[in-house]
Amino acid sequence: MNPISIPADCLTCGACCFSQLPTYVRVTGDDWSRLGDHAETVAHFIGSRAYMKMTEGHCGALAVSEGAQGREYYCLVYEQRPQVCRDLARGSPQCEAELEQKAARARAAGLS
Ligand code: SF4
Repeated sequence: MNPISIPADCLTCGACCFSQLPTYVRVTGDDWSRLGDHAETVAHFIGSRAYMKMTEGHCGALAVSEGAQGREYYCLVYEQRPQVCRDLARGSPQCEAELEQKAARARAAGLS
């Protein structure tokens, strides 16, 4: 098996923002407060807990554009993103696992 190649820049990846689970990105009370005016738009409650809204297999706050590095993925609420997103460090074992499971899915996604 080939070793996982960690991207030099998260902008060229986006894999960790993909999931089919509606409860993939937990939004805590602190996260909700940090999201401020964006909270009602990008997050919602499922039962008694809040989560980022998911759409077509990825977080609804994930966007893509053509940039200097080709396809670039970016978070529409990057400065206010939930803690769970902040905690996932590029190059960490969790990042490697996300890449292994989802990099192809991210590359194939028809984001707009
Ligand atoms: S909030 Fe931003 S960083 Fe977190 S999963 Fe959604 S798009 Fe990715």
